[in-house]
Amino acid sequence: MQISVSIPNGFVDVSNGRFTGKTDLGDGYTRWDWFVHYPINNYDVSLNIGNYQHFSDRLGHLSMDFYALPEDLDKAKRQFTQAKGMLQAYQHYFGEYPFKKDGYKLIEVPYSGMEHQSAVTYGNHFANGYLERDWTGVGISPRFDFIIIHESGHEWFGNSITAADSSDMWIHEGWTTYLESLYVEYMYGHDDAVKYLNGYKSKVKNEEHIIAPRGVNREPPQDQYFKGALFINTLRSIVNDDRRWWKLLHDFYQHFKYQNIMTEDVVEYFNRQTGMNLTPIFDQYLRHTAIPTLELKFDDSKGTVSYRWKVDEPAFQMPVRVGKKDNWQIVDATTDWQTMPTSLKKDEFEVATDLYFVNVTKE
Ligand SMILES: [Zn+2]
Repeated sequence: MQISVSIPNGFVDVSNGRFTGKTDLGDGYTRWDWFVHYPINNYDVSLNIGNYQHFSDRLGHLSMDFYALPEDLDKAKRQFTQAKGMLQAYQHYFGEYPFKKDGYKLIEVPYSGMEHQSAVTYGNHFANGYLERDWTGVGISPRFDFIIIHESGHEWFGNSITAADSSDMWIHEGWTTYLESLYVEYMYGHDDAVKYLNGYKSKVKNEEHIIAPRGVNREPPQDQYFKGALFINTLRSIVNDDRRWWKLLHDFYQHFKYQNIMTEDVVEYFNRQTGMNLTPIFDQYLRHTAIPTLELKFDDSKGTVSYRWKVDEPAFQMPVRVGKKDNWQIVDATTDWQTMPTSLKKDEFEVATDLYFVNVTKE
């Protein structure tokens, strides 16, 4: 895409892609020309016109350009330093920033922010959290700027990998919300990432299923963000091997980058790479409203516990960690009752609900 914007002399236009030059039109206007080297979604195209001040940095061969209004320049110079750690984190998990020829840009705007491709816009008050709030309410989000971390994550999921129909936009929002937790894990470790993700549970509604009707320009409900991210974290626990999980994430992104895909492509890829049949699990989380409930029945006289999943998908089968924290036992629960011995009483018997987004009932 070529973007040409004619604006009154003295202002600056920051658009997507690489700045190629400006021309004084002789009538009080100047034309600013930008060139985008990659396919771009229409909604990602952005004209940002203002009295911008510019500063820049580099990460290896990647150019980083920042634009702020004069009165906010000092604040921007402090806050925008977070962009480098963000890029390092996401490059660590998924590979190179997708729009290197266009560079990475962060531009001050009067709204909270948006993932415009290679020209992420920013209006988060130059403060950590989201609009100065602790976004997940568990003390982790005040450590970083939500808009820099979230909107830039869309460069990988949303802008590079794009849903072919808005019905499947969890591919943008569920994944990018999960990327926030990867940023937390990269910076602060796994425990904080799990804590951060579980803070999202309070935002999940389970009223409408995540995948919206196809072909009618409908977007999914808000659950695509938080339930989507908690579901992806559940997949990690199902894979149950972090080395495989990191490779799977990396290869998944690399396989589909610069493409428009649907949920079926994601499921097919995960099934093929893991050798598991994850389709009923994807379907339960994305195509039904309820999350799985693990039903537990204790028989103290026999010293046993019976377990099964209560779900909508008949073929649903999902391993889950149960028993005692630090000594979890994995049971491959299905929708049929199975029984195993346990020395634990009903009140002592735990389920790793911070690693799997599930409900538990005990009787
Ligand atoms: Zn988003």
